[in-house]
Amino acid sequence: MAKINILDHQTIDKIAAGEVVERPSSVVKELVENAIDAGADAITVEIKEGGTSFIRVTDNGSGIEKSQVENAFLRHATSKITSAEDLTSLVSLGFRGEALASIAAVAQVELITKTPEDLTGVRLLMEGGVVKEREEIGAPQGTTLLVRNLFYNTPPRKKFLKQPRTEGSYVADLMEHLAMSNPQVSFKFLLNGQTKFYTTGSGGLREIVYRIYGKEIADALTDFHCERDGMSVTGLLGKPVINRANRSYEIFYINGRYIRSTLISKAVEEGYREYLMQHKFPFCILHFQVDTEKIDVNVHPSKMEVRIADGPAFYEEVRGAVEDALRGREMIPEVSLSTEKEQREEAKKEEREETRARQAAPEPFETNRILQNRILRQTVEYRVAADEPEEMPQASLKKPEEMLKAAVKEPVEIPQAETETVPAGKPEQMELFDGRMLSEKAREQYEIIGQLFETYWLISYQDKLLIVDQHAAHEKVKYERLMRRFHEKNIVSQSINPPVIVTLSNREKECYLQHREDFASLGFEIEAFGGNDYAVRGVPMDLYGYTEESFFYEILDELAAETVTGTPEGIRNRIATMACKAAVKGNMRISRQEMEALIDELLTLDNPYNCPHGRPTIVSMSKYEIEKKFKRIV
Ligand code: ADP
Ligand code: MG
Repeated sequence: MAKINILDHQTIDKIAAGEVVERPSSVVKELVENAIDAGADAITVEIKEGGTSFIRVTDNGSGIEKSQVENAFLRHATSKITSAEDLTSLVSLGFRGEALASIAAVAQVELITKTPEDLTGVRLLMEGGVVKEREEIGAPQGTTLLVRNLFYNTPPRKKFLKQPRTEGSYVADLMEHLAMSNPQVSFKFLLNGQTKFYTTGSGGLREIVYRIYGKEIADALTDFHCERDGMSVTGLLGKPVINRANRSYEIFYINGRYIRSTLISKAVEEGYREYLMQHKFPFCILHFQVDTEKIDVNVHPSKMEVRIADGPAFYEEVRGAVEDALRGREMIPEVSLSTEKEQREEAKKEEREETRARQAAPEPFETNRILQNRILRQTVEYRVAADEPEEMPQASLKKPEEMLKAAVKEPVEIPQAETETVPAGKPEQMELFDGRMLSEKAREQYEIIGQLFETYWLISYQDKLLIVDQHAAHEKVKYERLMRRFHEKNIVSQSINPPVIVTLSNREKECYLQHREDFASLGFEIEAFGGNDYAVRGVPMDLYGYTEESFFYEILDELAAETVTGTPEGIRNRIATMACKAAVKGNMRISRQEMEALIDELLTLDNPYNCPHGRPTIVSMSKYEIEKKFKRIV
């Protein structure tokens, strides 16, 4: 029989370290959280080789008393709670009292600390959880922790680390998140000897975003605040123009703690639904304050995941608040005719001005990042319609720009009109809070110039050129009509005679049966016709005229491809969206009169700016941009 061994302390610590210390970023997280808990308002983090060889965290917090220094490294040694009762009313970030013990078990750790009361500080050197040196030294108030050669004594764990670059990027992400959750703390982050960012500790969230992500992003944010039963949320919502390709910029905090939450992500995305193209995700930073009884943060040692009590109600609150915040605001992306080179020059100019204005602050943000964001934004703007290449070849999209480019290459003498008034300001992304351009009053000032590439309609309005995507607009109008009727319980079904018989695959059939009632509630009349055959006898009135067989397949196809979850309302929305998309696809021609009517109807909608898929229905180009292109303005 095998002998049962009692493990020694060091072994236990090493094993336990696996839970807390997974990689350099988890070490940095624990150390910075300790610094914040110690009341520091200035924290510097420096890493080398992604943090694998070197991590240093310096704070100006309370320091650790001489007599307590060794205790800090004991497992379950904490100054933050005394008993389990304290867990429910937790305000500090750490509480398990195992971070320092775990880190010290798997690295070479040096601690230098001094309290305000003591005249001298202490320096403690530890290796593999064992004290190697201890001395009194002169030190500034606060604590510095150095962590060298992570996992030097646990080679298998070291093997799981990624390339230093990748590990470094995790730390950088973490530092950004920490900086944004602690605007009152001044952070400095250095990577391989270079300052990556620096925050002042005096600014608000927007200022921090500006320093980390640059001006373009900071300018495309709108403030968000909501208070509901037992929770309040403040933060920033990104305009659709800065939507991202992944979820890493959905940044959430609960009671100051950065967390990941599928529930919150889904709720926010659902709130953004009308502004999100497929596979796009919002940029947002949201701080939740939630009653501590309603959340459980003790789910995982790295404390990233939280459990939220009464999830469905919470989901609905968040979704509704985001939707309300976005609805009814001006969301027309402004396209620019400037070439990349011009934009870059302008970026440089802007940056020079900014640097001059803020000479005191070191390294506010990286030049590269601004440029990247700028280019990214441009790409986003021009990609607006590239989602459905079969309808809107990208080449044709670029044409107006190219035409204008060509015009500029061969300059013609254009006499400067004397009465010309030059707009004073620079063109800007349309402000969300400005008076609505798509109001009925504004409609009187519209002038439809004509159609372009059988897809876009050009409209002049005040000092702007509006470009309407007829498919997106059409789809949007149909969708809104359908949903309005649905909400008014006024669904009108239009019979198809003779009915269209469709043969479904097993998968399609299952998908249909699962959502049979949703289809019926929207005005579809579908009957079993034996086996896998179904007879489509009626469709919602607004979709009448688009009843080729493919129509129904397309909806089922898309429906089956998604894991459609959520409220029944959400599901019906999806079906309606797909139906409208499929319906409009077949219909290419549109007359000027129809367009007039379409625009009229578009203007009556709550959110005319995006089609149900999140593509813009309208983009705008300013007179300023155009005049600049013709060198009337320099
Ligand atoms: P926890 O943070 O869960 O209490 P840790 O192992 O991270 O556990 O830290 C143990 C203790 O060491 C803390 O409770 C705190 O008293 C002390 N400590 C750690 N880091 C610092 C710091 N930067 N400044 C002051 N005290 C610290
Ligand atoms: Mg801690």
